[in-house]
Amino acid sequence: MPNQSSPMAPHVLIFPLPLQGPLNCMLNLAELLCLAGVGVTFINTDHVHRRLLACSTSANYYAKYPNLKFQTVPDGLPEENPRTADQIGNLIESMEAVASPIFRQMVSPDSVSCLIADGIFAFAAEVAGDVGVPLLYFDTISPCGLWSYLCMPKLIEDGEFPFPDDDLDKLVPGIPGMEGIIRRRDLPNFYRTDDLNIPIIQLVLKEAKHIPLAQGLIFNTFQELEAPVLSQFQNISPQIYAVGPLHTHLKSRSPPPQDRSTSIWKEDKSCISWLDSQPSKSVLFVSIGSLAVVTKRQLVELWHGLINSGTRFLWVQRPDSVVEDNIPEFDEISLELLKNTKERGFIVKWAPQEEVLAHPAVGGFFTHSGWNSTLESIVEGKPMICWPYFVDQQVNSRFVEEVWKLGLDMKDKCDRRVIEGMIRELMGSRKEEFSEKADAMAKLARKSVGHGGSSFLALDCLVEDIKFMRIPRN
Ligand code: UDP
Repeated sequence: MPNQSSPMAPHVLIFPLPLQGPLNCMLNLAELLCLAGVGVTFINTDHVHRRLLACSTSANYYAKYPNLKFQTVPDGLPEENPRTADQIGNLIESMEAVASPIFRQMVSPDSVSCLIADGIFAFAAEVAGDVGVPLLYFDTISPCGLWSYLCMPKLIEDGEFPFPDDDLDKLVPGIPGMEGIIRRRDLPNFYRTDDLNIPIIQLVLKEAKHIPLAQGLIFNTFQELEAPVLSQFQNISPQIYAVGPLHTHLKSRSPPPQDRSTSIWKEDKSCISWLDSQPSKSVLFVSIGSLAVVTKRQLVELWHGLINSGTRFLWVQRPDSVVEDNIPEFDEISLELLKNTKERGFIVKWAPQEEVLAHPAVGGFFTHSGWNSTLESIVEGKPMICWPYFVDQQVNSRFVEEVWKLGLDMKDKCDRRVIEGMIRELMGSRKEEFSEKADAMAKLARKSVGHGGSSFLALDCLVEDIKFMRIPRN
């Protein structure tokens, strides 16, 4: 890809989707690029930037990089909008209308060597093409998930989607590289519709068109985990950079201080002291990430399952994560459950998740299978029970159980008996089996970001390419 022109001082604009997961990934990448001598302008929305500064010591921390600066843009949503999962469509639409014209003005071929934008931002390809600046898309979801998005046009053409009948357990043969693995229920949740005109389907179809327009694709994964899927992307993009797991990659190149945090919620560190007093590998960490929500009914099922399993647990209950539904006597039930929780459970509103997963007392992770959470669990060798909520999570949970054998996929069954049974399996009867697999994968993950590892070399290659990147002019 690089042409032979001489390098200018390399400078990238990084523009993440303004949500916790993409923010974490892109900030890690930004630091890695700065360490390699690439200048970075990091574009945050006002909302995210304000929360980042309020919840962490970021302002001081990032000041240590003379070649990193932040710029903010409005996201166009009212401040009180909760920006949870059901609002993502609105957020993307609003960014397109309000933030993209400002972004366009920031992009100049004289000062910007390359744009790195979230893969969902169609406008980035338009701006890059119009202004004449190279573009790399970084979709921070899993490559296996993204691939299942990009195959949507093919599945429509093959007559596999919309599904011709209601059987969600049928295999989907039409996704190259995933034959025999993916059932209909393992596709992203938006596939469960008959209506191709709904906004989310239109958004995905649009993404399938603009992703191949970029000069390359960056992924937060490592070759040893996803080689077969990554090789599929080589058919649609000239260059693939698998540089993850980024949080570990950053630690391996330049260990950040203990208190570095990119959270946009205030982390409750008291859970670490609680973990310190628990036996080794005895605690199940429970979290559904930054966007997913549960109904009160699901919350009660999960809670009963946790208590009936007899396992110790540390549970993140995000304040905005429980949605109203009509469950009689919810307050009485939760008071009773809270009493039982005191014996062996601990609840926080937001945890320092990487630190929690690295803690020796944690033996497993009940997760919504967000891609960051999945990678963070893999790096720490913690087996998972997966309860996917949306987007790539249904695919990730399938890969965790079926391909990588790192845990159990609960999928669509939020029932107290199922939950209790799976916890007993993960933390009891099959503990050794899962631990062995998880330890082996953790070693591969760490090796990939160590000197000479696959992700280490891919990052070096990315930096070199950025230094020489130009759009050829006629
Ligand atoms: N996270 C955290 N504390 C919590 C819960 C989540 O720091 O209590 C972080 C977690 O470490 C991960 C991110 O939030 O990096 C969530 O991203 P993920 O892709 O797993 O899921 P999403 O929130 O995007 O659904």
